Amino acid sequence: MKCALITGGSRGIGRAICVKMAALGYHVLINYKSNLEEAQNTLEQVKQAGSTGEILQFDVSDKEQIKQVLSAWIDAHEDHEIEVLVNNAGIRADSLMAWMEEDQWDNVMKTNLDSFFYVTRLVLNGMLTRKYGRIVNVVSLSGIKGLAGQTNYSAAKAGVIGATKALAQEVGRQGITVNALAPGFIRTDMTEELDEKELRNLIPVRRFGKPEEVAHAAAFLASPDAAYITGQILSVNGGLYS
Ligand code: NAP
Repeated sequence: MKCALITGGSRGIGRAICVKMAALGYHVLINYKSNLEEAQNTLEQVKQAGSTGEILQFDVSDKEQIKQVLSAWIDAHEDHEIEVLVNNAGIRADSLMAWMEEDQWDNVMKTNLDSFFYVTRLVLNGMLTRKYGRIVNVVSLSGIKGLAGQTNYSAAKAGVIGATKALAQEVGRQGITVNALAPGFIRTDMTEELDEKELRNLIPVRRFGKPEEVAHAAAFLASPDAAYITGQILSVNGGLYS
C-alpha cells in the first residue's frame, strides 16, 4: 500500500495536503499533536475524497515520541510504503529578540527544525531501499526573507531550507526528491489574528492564500512526474516575496 505521511495534518495547510494526497490515491497517515477531533475531521475528508487513511499521534518536537510511534508503525506495516513525506507541522512564537524567552526559541526550533531531522531520517530508510520517494518540507517566506519578531521562526525555517538543499544532493541518485514550499500569508488558525484587510495591500494578488493552493503545489512536487525537480524552494505567496 502506497502511503503519504503528513505531519500536522489535523488542521490548516496540512489538512488540505492530506485531502489532496487522498485524491491522488494515497493511503494518508495523518499526524497531529493534540487536536484529535480535528484529526478525525481530516480523516473524514480523506475518506470523502475516495481514499483511506489513519491517524498517527505524536509530537514532532519530541524525538523519543517520534522514534516510538513512527518506528513502531513502520516496523508493524512492512507492506506499507511511505512514498510521500510532507514535513508540515509547525508553530510560531513571535517576539522581538530582546524579549524572547528561551522556551520560545527552543519550542520553535524543536517543532520546525529538529522534527525535520527525526521524522525524515526514519522515513528515508524505506525510500532508499525502494529507490523512490518525495519529500516536501513546508517552510515559510520568513525563512527566506527574515521577518522582524521571528528570529526563532526565520532561523528554523531557513535551517530547513538548507537541509532541503543538502539532502536533495545526498539522495538524488536514489530516485528521491527533496523540495520545500514557502507559503506567504495563508488563511489558517496560524494567521487568524492577522488583519487581512490591511496586509493584503502588501500582496500583489491582494488576498491571503487558501490552504488548498499550497496543497496544489505540494501535490505537484510530490508527483512522479516532478522527478527532475529537487533541492528547490517553491514560493506560494501571491507575489509577496522581496
Ligand atoms: P495551523 O493551522 O496552526 O496548524 C498547525 C498544524 O500543525 C496542526 O495540525 C497541529 O496539530 C500541528 N502541530 C503543531 N505542533 C505540532 C507538534 N509538535 N507535533 C505534531 N503536530 C503539530 O498551521 P498552518 O498555518 O496550517 O501551518 C502549517 C505549516 O505551514 C507550518 O509549518 C507553518 O509554519 C507553515 N506556514 C504557514 C503560513 C500561514 O500563513 N498559515 C505561512 C508560512 C508557513 P494540532 O491540531 O494537534 O495542534
